[in-house]
Amino acid sequence: MPLRAKVATQVSRTAAALSRAAGRGDGSVIGGWIGLKIDPDLLEHLAAGRAIALVSGTNGKTTTTRLTAAALGVLGPVATNSFGANMPSGHTSALAKAGSTPYAVLEVDEHYLPQVIEETRPRVIALLNLSRDQLDRAKEVAMIAQLWRTTLAKHPEIMIVANSDDPMIVWAAGNSPTVTWFSAGQRWQDDSWVCPECGSTIERQDGQWWCTGCPLRRPQPQWVVEDDGVLDPSGAWHLVRLQLPGRVNLGNAATALAVAAAFGIRPLQAVPTLSSVASVAGRYAQVDRDGRNIRLLLAKNPASWLEAFDMADNAPTLLSINSRDPDGLDTSWLFDVDFSPLRGRQILITGERAYDLAVRLEVNDVPFRHVQTFGEAIASVPPGRLEVIANYTAFQDIRAELDRVN
Ligand SMILES: [Zn+2]
Repeated sequence: MPLRAKVATQVSRTAAALSRAAGRGDGSVIGGWIGLKIDPDLLEHLAAGRAIALVSGTNGKTTTTRLTAAALGVLGPVATNSFGANMPSGHTSALAKAGSTPYAVLEVDEHYLPQVIEETRPRVIALLNLSRDQLDRAKEVAMIAQLWRTTLAKHPEIMIVANSDDPMIVWAAGNSPTVTWFSAGQRWQDDSWVCPECGSTIERQDGQWWCTGCPLRRPQPQWVVEDDGVLDPSGAWHLVRLQLPGRVNLGNAATALAVAAAFGIRPLQAVPTLSSVASVAGRYAQVDRDGRNIRLLLAKNPASWLEAFDMADNAPTLLSINSRDPDGLDTSWLFDVDFSPLRGRQILITGERAYDLAVRLEVNDVPFRHVQTFGEAIASVPPGRLEVIANYTAFQDIRAELDRVN
Protein backbone atom coordinates (compact mmCIF):
# COMPACT_ATOMS: atom_id res chain seq x y z
CA MET A 1 0.00 0.00 0.00
CA PRO A 2 1.14 3.58 -0.59
CA LEU A 3 2.51 5.37 2.50
CA ARG A 4 -0.51 7.68 2.76
CA ALA A 5 -2.83 4.66 2.83
CA LYS A 6 -0.69 2.98 5.51
CA VAL A 7 -0.83 6.06 7.71
CA ALA A 8 -4.56 6.45 7.10
CA THR A 9 -5.12 2.80 8.06
CA GLN A 10 -3.20 3.19 11.30
CA VAL A 11 -4.98 6.42 12.24
CA SER A 12 -8.35 4.86 11.39
CA ARG A 13 -7.66 1.91 13.70
CA THR A 14 -6.50 4.16 16.50
CA ALA A 15 -9.52 6.45 16.21
CA ALA A 16 -11.86 3.47 16.32
CA ALA A 17 -10.07 2.06 19.37
CA LEU A 18 -10.21 5.43 21.16
CA SER A 19 -13.92 5.73 20.40
CA ARG A 20 -14.51 2.24 21.83
CA ALA A 21 -12.42 3.02 24.91
CA ALA A 22 -14.47 6.17 25.46
CA GLY A 23 -17.67 4.10 25.37
CA ARG A 24 -18.89 5.81 22.19
CA GLY A 25 -20.00 2.69 20.33
CA ASP A 26 -17.78 0.37 18.32
CA GLY A 27 -15.98 3.24 16.58
CA SER A 28 -16.32 1.86 13.07
CA VAL A 29 -17.97 4.95 11.59
CA ILE A 30 -15.59 7.54 13.08
CA GLY A 31 -12.51 5.37 12.38
CA GLY A 32 -13.42 4.95 8.72
CA TRP A 33 -14.39 8.60 8.38
CA ILE A 34 -11.00 9.82 9.61
CA GLY A 35 -9.16 7.27 7.45
CA LEU A 36 -11.01 8.49 4.35
CA LYS A 37 -10.24 12.13 5.23
CA ILE A 38 -6.52 11.33 5.17
CA ASP A 39 -6.71 9.15 2.06
CA PRO A 40 -9.91 9.40 -0.02
CA ASP A 41 -8.85 6.22 -1.87
CA LEU A 42 -8.33 4.26 1.32
CA LEU A 43 -11.21 1.82 0.77
CA GLU A 44 -9.84 0.97 -2.68
CA HIS A 45 -6.36 0.38 -1.26
CA LEU A 46 -7.67 -1.77 1.58
CA ALA A 47 -9.86 -3.84 -0.75
CA ALA A 48 -7.11 -4.56 -3.27
CA GLY A 49 -6.03 -8.19 -3.31
CA ARG A 50 -8.96 -9.46 -1.23
CA ALA A 51 -11.80 -11.70 -2.42
CA ILE A 52 -14.90 -9.74 -1.40
CA ALA A 53 -18.62 -10.45 -1.23
CA LEU A 54 -21.10 -7.57 -0.92
CA VAL A 55 -24.61 -8.01 0.49
CA SER A 56 -27.32 -5.44 -0.26
CA GLY A 57 -31.10 -5.08 -0.18
CA THR A 58 -33.72 -3.37 1.97
CA ASN A 59 -34.09 -6.07 4.61
CA GLY A 60 -32.02 -8.94 5.98
CA LYS A 61 -28.61 -7.63 5.00
CA THR A 62 -27.07 -7.56 8.47
CA THR A 63 -28.20 -11.11 9.21
CA THR A 64 -27.24 -12.44 5.77
CA THR A 65 -23.82 -10.77 6.05
CA ARG A 66 -23.30 -12.45 9.39
CA LEU A 67 -24.37 -15.89 8.08
CA THR A 68 -22.21 -15.49 4.97
CA ALA A 69 -19.18 -14.49 7.04
CA ALA A 70 -19.74 -17.62 9.16
CA ALA A 71 -19.85 -19.79 6.02
CA LEU A 72 -16.74 -18.19 4.49
CA GLY A 73 -14.98 -18.82 7.81
CA VAL A 74 -14.41 -22.34 6.46
CA LEU A 75 -11.64 -20.81 4.32
CA GLY A 76 -10.01 -18.78 7.10
CA PRO A 77 -10.45 -15.41 8.85
CA VAL A 78 -13.05 -13.13 7.25
CA ALA A 79 -13.25 -9.33 7.56
CA THR A 80 -16.79 -8.04 8.01
CA ASN A 81 -18.74 -4.97 9.16
CA SER A 82 -20.80 -6.99 11.59
CA PHE A 83 -22.29 -4.04 13.46
CA GLY A 84 -24.29 -2.79 10.50
CA ALA A 85 -22.07 0.22 9.69
CA ASN A 86 -22.93 -0.24 6.02
CA MET A 87 -21.60 2.88 4.32
CA PRO A 88 -18.04 3.36 2.96
CA SER A 89 -16.75 4.64 6.33
CA GLY A 90 -17.90 1.37 7.93
CA HIS A 91 -16.33 -0.74 5.16
CA THR A 92 -13.06 1.18 5.44
CA SER A 93 -12.99 0.68 9.18
CA ALA A 94 -13.78 -3.05 8.91
CA LEU A 95 -10.97 -3.65 6.40
CA ALA A 96 -8.49 -1.44 8.29
CA LYS A 97 -9.13 -3.46 11.44
CA ALA A 98 -8.84 -6.80 9.64
CA GLY A 99 -5.17 -6.61 8.66
CA SER A 100 -4.28 -8.87 5.72
CA THR A 101 -7.37 -11.12 5.88
CA PRO A 102 -7.84 -12.52 2.34
CA TYR A 103 -11.67 -12.59 2.48
CA ALA A 104 -14.30 -10.01 3.31
CA VAL A 105 -18.10 -9.96 3.49
CA LEU A 106 -19.52 -6.45 3.57
CA GLU A 107 -23.09 -5.31 4.14
CA VAL A 108 -23.81 -2.33 1.85
CA ASP A 109 -26.51 0.33 2.05
CA GLU A 110 -28.60 0.18 -1.15
CA HIS A 111 -27.76 3.76 -2.16
CA TYR A 112 -24.00 3.20 -1.83
CA LEU A 113 -23.79 -0.06 -3.77
CA PRO A 114 -22.52 1.54 -7.04
CA GLN A 115 -19.76 3.45 -5.21
CA VAL A 116 -18.72 0.44 -3.13
CA ILE A 117 -18.60 -1.78 -6.23
CA GLU A 118 -16.19 0.68 -7.89
CA GLU A 119 -13.98 0.86 -4.81
CA THR A 120 -13.91 -2.77 -3.69
CA ARG A 121 -14.20 -4.71 -7.01
CA PRO A 122 -16.13 -7.57 -5.38
CA ARG A 123 -16.10 -11.15 -6.62
CA VAL A 124 -19.75 -11.73 -5.65
CA ILE A 125 -22.76 -9.53 -4.83
CA ALA A 126 -25.87 -10.87 -3.09
CA LEU A 127 -29.05 -8.91 -3.87
CA LEU A 128 -31.79 -9.71 -1.36
CA ASN A 129 -34.95 -7.61 -1.91
CA LEU A 130 -36.16 -4.05 -2.46
CA SER A 131 -39.10 -2.40 -0.70
CA ARG A 132 -40.11 0.99 0.65
CA ASP A 133 -37.98 2.26 3.53
CA GLN A 134 -37.66 5.68 5.19
CA LEU A 135 -39.77 7.56 2.67
CA ASP A 136 -38.61 10.95 3.92
CA ARG A 137 -35.12 10.41 2.55
CA ALA A 138 -34.66 7.13 0.68
CA LYS A 139 -35.02 6.75 -3.06
CA GLU A 140 -38.14 5.14 -4.50
CA VAL A 141 -37.78 1.39 -5.01
CA ALA A 142 -37.84 1.65 -8.82
CA MET A 143 -35.06 4.27 -8.72
CA ILE A 144 -32.78 1.99 -6.69
CA ALA A 145 -33.52 -0.92 -9.03
CA GLN A 146 -32.62 1.29 -12.02
CA LEU A 147 -29.41 2.47 -10.29
CA TRP A 148 -28.36 -1.12 -9.64
CA ARG A 149 -29.26 -2.29 -13.13
CA THR A 150 -27.18 0.45 -14.75
CA THR A 151 -24.23 -0.19 -12.44
CA LEU A 152 -24.25 -3.98 -12.79
CA ALA A 153 -24.40 -3.72 -16.59
CA LYS A 154 -20.93 -2.14 -16.42
CA HIS A 155 -19.55 -5.07 -14.39
CA PRO A 156 -20.13 -8.36 -16.22
CA GLU A 157 -17.15 -9.83 -14.34
CA ILE A 158 -19.03 -9.85 -11.02
CA MET A 159 -20.97 -12.94 -10.04
CA ILE A 160 -24.48 -12.03 -8.85
CA VAL A 161 -26.47 -14.06 -6.33
CA ALA A 162 -30.06 -12.78 -6.45
CA ASN A 163 -33.59 -13.41 -5.18
CA SER A 164 -35.80 -14.86 -7.94
CA ASP A 165 -38.97 -14.07 -5.94
CA ASP A 166 -38.58 -10.27 -6.07
CA PRO A 167 -39.38 -8.81 -9.52
CA MET A 168 -37.42 -5.62 -8.77
CA ILE A 169 -34.31 -7.67 -7.93
CA VAL A 170 -34.69 -9.86 -11.01
CA TRP A 171 -34.93 -6.77 -13.20
CA ALA A 172 -31.97 -5.08 -11.47
CA ALA A 173 -29.79 -8.16 -12.07
CA GLY A 174 -31.18 -8.67 -15.60
CA ASN A 175 -28.13 -7.35 -17.48
CA SER A 176 -25.60 -9.49 -15.62
CA PRO A 177 -24.29 -12.52 -17.48
CA THR A 178 -23.60 -14.63 -14.37
CA VAL A 179 -26.51 -14.84 -11.97
CA THR A 180 -27.21 -17.57 -9.43
CA TRP A 181 -30.85 -17.37 -8.35
CA PHE A 182 -32.12 -18.26 -4.93
CA SER A 183 -35.71 -18.44 -3.77
CA ALA A 184 -36.20 -16.78 -0.40
CA GLY A 185 -39.87 -15.85 -0.80
CA GLN A 186 -41.41 -12.39 -0.83
CA ARG A 187 -43.97 -11.78 1.89
CA TRP A 188 -44.25 -8.05 1.13
CA GLN A 189 -45.39 -7.55 -2.48
CA ASP A 190 -46.74 -4.00 -2.47
CA ASP A 191 -43.69 -2.48 -4.16
CA SER A 192 -43.65 -4.84 -7.12
CA TRP A 193 -47.08 -5.01 -8.74
CA VAL A 194 -45.92 -2.94 -11.72
CA CYS A 195 -43.29 -4.24 -14.13
CA PRO A 196 -40.13 -2.10 -13.95
CA GLU A 197 -39.40 -2.91 -17.61
CA CYS A 198 -42.70 -2.06 -19.35
CA GLY A 199 -45.19 -0.77 -16.74
CA SER A 200 -47.68 -3.61 -17.16
CA THR A 201 -49.10 -5.42 -14.14
CA ILE A 202 -47.30 -8.37 -12.59
CA GLU A 203 -49.35 -11.45 -11.80
CA ARG A 204 -48.58 -14.09 -9.21
CA GLN A 205 -49.70 -17.66 -8.70
CA ASP A 206 -48.30 -20.70 -6.84
CA GLY A 207 -44.96 -19.02 -6.10
CA GLN A 208 -44.47 -17.93 -9.71
CA TRP A 209 -44.74 -14.37 -11.05
CA TRP A 210 -44.75 -12.93 -14.54
CA CYS A 211 -45.28 -9.65 -16.35
CA THR A 212 -48.47 -9.48 -18.43
CA GLY A 213 -46.85 -7.20 -21.02
CA CYS A 214 -43.25 -8.36 -21.60
CA PRO A 215 -41.02 -11.44 -21.11
CA LEU A 216 -39.95 -10.53 -17.54
CA ARG A 217 -40.84 -13.44 -15.27
CA ARG A 218 -39.51 -15.41 -12.32
CA PRO A 219 -36.31 -17.25 -13.24
CA GLN A 220 -35.84 -20.83 -12.12
CA PRO A 221 -33.95 -20.68 -8.80
CA GLN A 222 -30.96 -22.95 -8.11
CA TRP A 223 -31.09 -22.60 -4.30
CA VAL A 224 -34.51 -23.11 -2.72
CA VAL A 225 -35.82 -23.09 0.84
CA GLU A 226 -37.80 -26.29 1.37
CA ASP A 227 -39.31 -27.35 4.70
CA ASP A 228 -36.61 -26.70 7.32
CA GLY A 229 -33.72 -26.90 4.90
CA VAL A 230 -32.29 -25.80 1.58
CA LEU A 231 -32.13 -27.52 -1.81
CA ASP A 232 -28.80 -26.96 -3.59
CA PRO A 233 -28.31 -26.73 -7.39
CA SER A 234 -27.57 -30.46 -7.62
CA GLY A 235 -30.96 -31.23 -6.07
CA ALA A 236 -29.51 -32.36 -2.74
CA TRP A 237 -31.46 -31.22 0.33
CA HIS A 238 -29.65 -29.99 3.45
CA LEU A 239 -31.24 -29.69 6.87
CA VAL A 240 -30.37 -26.20 8.15
CA ARG A 241 -30.52 -25.77 11.92
CA LEU A 242 -30.50 -22.11 12.87
CA GLN A 243 -30.70 -20.37 16.19
CA LEU A 244 -32.43 -17.51 14.36
CA PRO A 245 -36.25 -17.70 14.07
CA GLY A 246 -38.55 -17.75 11.05
CA ARG A 247 -38.64 -18.79 7.45
CA VAL A 248 -37.12 -15.46 6.45
CA ASN A 249 -33.86 -16.51 8.11
CA LEU A 250 -33.88 -19.82 6.24
CA GLY A 251 -33.98 -17.66 3.12
CA ASN A 252 -31.01 -15.68 4.44
CA ALA A 253 -29.22 -19.00 5.07
CA ALA A 254 -29.90 -20.13 1.48
CA THR A 255 -28.37 -16.86 0.27
CA ALA A 256 -25.29 -17.38 2.44
CA LEU A 257 -24.87 -20.92 1.07
CA ALA A 258 -25.13 -19.65 -2.51
CA VAL A 259 -22.48 -16.98 -1.89
CA ALA A 260 -20.24 -19.52 -0.16
CA ALA A 261 -20.58 -21.82 -3.18
CA ALA A 262 -19.29 -18.99 -5.37
CA PHE A 263 -16.14 -19.13 -3.22
CA GLY A 264 -15.86 -22.88 -3.76
CA ILE A 265 -17.33 -23.91 -0.39
CA ARG A 266 -19.65 -26.92 -0.54
CA PRO A 267 -22.97 -26.84 1.39
CA LEU A 268 -21.82 -29.78 3.53
CA GLN A 269 -18.97 -27.60 4.82
CA ALA A 270 -20.97 -24.40 5.13
CA VAL A 271 -24.25 -25.62 6.68
CA PRO A 272 -22.81 -26.49 10.14
CA THR A 273 -21.27 -23.01 10.49
CA LEU A 274 -24.68 -21.29 10.17
CA SER A 275 -25.96 -22.68 13.46
CA SER A 276 -23.22 -20.78 15.32
CA VAL A 277 -25.03 -17.46 14.76
CA ALA A 278 -27.26 -16.81 17.78
CA SER A 279 -28.01 -13.11 17.55
CA VAL A 280 -26.98 -10.33 15.21
CA ALA A 281 -26.16 -6.96 16.84
CA GLY A 282 -28.68 -7.83 19.57
CA ARG A 283 -31.43 -8.88 17.15
CA TYR A 284 -33.20 -12.12 18.07
CA ALA A 285 -31.39 -11.96 21.44
CA GLN A 286 -33.27 -13.54 24.32
CA VAL A 287 -33.04 -12.18 27.84
CA ASP A 288 -34.60 -13.67 30.98
CA ARG A 289 -35.93 -11.25 33.56
CA ASP A 290 -38.49 -11.69 36.36
CA GLY A 291 -39.68 -15.00 34.91
CA ARG A 292 -40.22 -13.49 31.48
CA ASN A 293 -38.28 -14.68 28.47
CA ILE A 294 -37.89 -11.52 26.40
CA ARG A 295 -37.01 -11.78 22.73
CA LEU A 296 -35.95 -8.74 20.71
CA LEU A 297 -36.97 -8.36 17.08
CA LEU A 298 -35.97 -5.35 14.98
CA ALA A 299 -38.48 -4.11 12.40
CA LYS A 300 -37.98 -0.82 10.63
CA ASN A 301 -40.14 -0.71 7.51
CA PRO A 302 -43.42 -2.32 6.34
CA ALA A 303 -41.79 -5.43 4.87
CA SER A 304 -39.76 -6.13 8.00
CA TRP A 305 -42.83 -5.71 10.25
CA LEU A 306 -44.60 -8.42 8.26
CA GLU A 307 -41.55 -10.65 8.70
CA ALA A 308 -41.46 -9.91 12.42
CA PHE A 309 -45.12 -10.89 12.87
CA ASP A 310 -44.26 -14.18 11.20
CA MET A 311 -41.21 -14.78 13.43
CA ALA A 312 -42.91 -13.83 16.69
CA ASP A 313 -44.62 -16.48 18.80
CA ASN A 314 -48.32 -16.14 19.57
CA ALA A 315 -47.47 -14.48 22.91
CA PRO A 316 -47.77 -11.09 24.63
CA THR A 317 -46.05 -8.53 22.42
CA LEU A 318 -44.60 -5.08 23.08
CA LEU A 319 -44.40 -2.72 20.10
CA SER A 320 -42.15 0.33 20.31
CA ILE A 321 -41.76 3.14 17.77
CA ASN A 322 -39.45 6.15 17.73
CA SER A 323 -38.85 8.60 14.88
CA ARG A 324 -35.36 9.91 15.49
CA ASP A 325 -32.94 10.52 12.66
CA PRO A 326 -31.79 6.89 12.16
CA ASP A 327 -35.43 5.71 12.12
CA GLY A 328 -36.65 8.22 9.55
CA LEU A 329 -38.78 11.11 10.80
CA ASP A 330 -41.98 10.13 9.02
CA THR A 331 -44.16 7.44 10.65
CA SER A 332 -46.84 7.38 7.95
CA TRP A 333 -45.50 3.98 6.85
CA LEU A 334 -47.28 2.48 9.87
CA PHE A 335 -50.41 2.65 7.71
CA ASP A 336 -48.77 0.40 5.11
CA VAL A 337 -48.49 -2.40 7.68
CA ASP A 338 -51.41 -4.73 8.29
CA PHE A 339 -51.38 -5.26 12.06
CA SER A 340 -54.32 -7.69 12.04
CA PRO A 341 -52.05 -10.75 12.57
CA LEU A 342 -51.63 -9.41 16.14
CA ARG A 343 -55.34 -9.74 16.98
CA GLY A 344 -55.84 -12.12 19.87
CA ARG A 345 -52.43 -11.41 21.41
CA GLN A 346 -51.91 -9.16 24.44
CA ILE A 347 -50.48 -6.00 22.85
CA LEU A 348 -48.56 -3.26 24.67
CA ILE A 349 -47.21 -0.14 23.01
CA THR A 350 -44.48 2.30 24.00
CA GLY A 351 -41.84 4.62 22.49
CA GLU A 352 -41.82 8.28 21.53
CA ARG A 353 -44.36 7.76 18.75
CA ALA A 354 -46.56 5.29 20.62
CA TYR A 355 -49.60 7.48 19.88
CA ASP A 356 -49.05 7.09 16.11
CA LEU A 357 -49.02 3.36 16.73
CA ALA A 358 -52.15 3.71 18.86
CA VAL A 359 -54.08 5.35 16.02
CA ARG A 360 -52.92 2.67 13.58
CA LEU A 361 -53.92 -0.20 15.88
CA GLU A 362 -57.28 1.44 16.58
CA VAL A 363 -58.00 1.65 12.83
CA ASN A 364 -56.83 -1.95 12.42
CA ASP A 365 -59.10 -3.10 15.27
CA VAL A 366 -56.29 -4.44 17.44
CA PRO A 367 -56.80 -3.85 21.21
CA PHE A 368 -53.70 -2.54 23.05
CA ARG A 369 -52.46 -0.85 26.22
CA HIS A 370 -49.98 2.01 26.41
CA VAL A 371 -47.07 1.63 28.87
CA GLN A 372 -44.58 4.36 29.79
CA THR A 373 -41.54 2.17 30.42
CA PHE A 374 -40.13 -1.21 29.54
CA GLY A 375 -40.33 -2.18 33.23
CA GLU A 376 -44.05 -1.45 33.21
CA ALA A 377 -44.41 -3.65 30.13
CA ILE A 378 -42.72 -6.58 31.87
CA ALA A 379 -44.91 -6.18 34.95
CA SER A 380 -48.03 -6.17 32.74
CA VAL A 381 -47.53 -9.61 31.19
CA PRO A 382 -47.66 -13.07 32.76
CA PRO A 383 -44.47 -15.15 33.18
CA GLY A 384 -43.34 -16.72 29.89
CA ARG A 385 -42.45 -15.31 26.50
CA LEU A 386 -42.61 -11.57 25.82
CA GLU A 387 -41.95 -10.63 22.21
CA VAL A 388 -40.58 -7.14 21.62
CA ILE A 389 -40.81 -5.64 18.13
CA ALA A 390 -39.19 -2.23 17.81
CA ASN A 391 -37.78 0.06 15.17
CA TYR A 392 -34.15 1.12 15.16
CA THR A 393 -33.59 3.58 18.05
CA ALA A 394 -36.49 2.11 20.05
CA PHE A 395 -34.68 -1.23 19.79
CA GLN A 396 -31.43 0.39 21.02
CA ASP A 397 -33.29 2.00 23.94
CA ILE A 398 -34.72 -1.33 25.07
CA ARG A 399 -31.34 -3.07 24.69
CA ALA A 400 -29.73 -0.39 26.84
CA GLU A 401 -32.42 -0.79 29.48
CA LEU A 402 -31.94 -4.58 29.54
CA ASP A 403 -28.16 -4.17 29.76
CA ARG A 404 -28.53 -1.90 32.78
CA VAL A 405 -30.59 -4.49 34.60
CA ASN A 406 -28.59 -7.59 33.68
ZN1 LIG B 1 -43.08 -6.05 -18.32
